[in-house]
Amino acid sequence: MVNRSRLTSWLMHLRGRRGKQVINHAVKMFRFHKTPFSQLLQRILEILDEYDAKFTFPLVAATAQSNPSLVEWLRSFPHEIAIHGYKHIKYPFLSPKQQALELKKAIHIFRELKIPYKGFRAPYNAYSKTTIDLVEEFGFKWDGGIGYRHEYRHGYEFFKVKLRNGNMSSYTCIPLCEWSDDRMIDRYKLSSEKMAKILIIQLEKARKVNGLIMYDLHPIRIGQKEYIQSLSSLLLHARRIGAWVPTVSDAVDYWSKYQRWKGHAPVCCLLTGDIDNFTFFDYMRRT
Ligand SMILES: [Zn+2]
Repeated sequence: MVNRSRLTSWLMHLRGRRGKQVINHAVKMFRFHKTPFSQLLQRILEILDEYDAKFTFPLVAATAQSNPSLVEWLRSFPHEIAIHGYKHIKYPFLSPKQQALELKKAIHIFRELKIPYKGFRAPYNAYSKTTIDLVEEFGFKWDGGIGYRHEYRHGYEFFKVKLRNGNMSSYTCIPLCEWSDDRMIDRYKLSSEKMAKILIIQLEKARKVNGLIMYDLHPIRIGQKEYIQSLSSLLLHARRIGAWVPTVSDAVDYWSKYQRWKGHAPVCCLLTGDIDNFTFFDYMRRT
């Protein structure tokens, strides 16, 4: 448990370092982490079960290592876990060698913990040219972060990226909706109702072109009791219109075989949400 005096001294330490913004973020995270992560996940999993929807959790490997039993419990559900790096750091700041090492370590931990993985999303959705090549080199089937770039985020279909050797990636990339929960909650301080409205509007845009939409809904935010309703409202709407809500890997596999969505669904809705930390202590270590 983190007590207040420890928090205060740590905040004072930060004040000298990176200023007000970091402190505000830390205070927010402290508040969010007051609810145990298992409880946040439980809320999300219950709703997913109710709507027969699947979720993909990009998970930081060092975080997985810090609480293997929680990961094992999460794995007992029919959802997907993807690699979200070894530590939650910005890859473009690392040398190619360091980046490769981060991925190697992450894969090693996933194998050690026996977590099957096919996909990757870089921390902060931050990629350099090296990162884009490394996703290919390490044999990932799909990438869920390159699609956040301005040129891709408004798309509604899978795409490939060009590698430095001139070839197109064999892995599949997916546009990532710009309306992430951190944007809606941290930046715009929207209510759960407004969030649901925005998420549904995005889903409808994808439906118009029989395309796909992928959201980034972090369990640490969307699992809070004041925001969880936005997920159920989105899924209620998804059910009404006959949307398909699979894991990312299932969607990628199905599309590559049939070039359409399962059951001729009018739209494919991909729910993803990064798990960067399980506890506030994980967060402090990272910062
Ligand atoms: Zn992250």
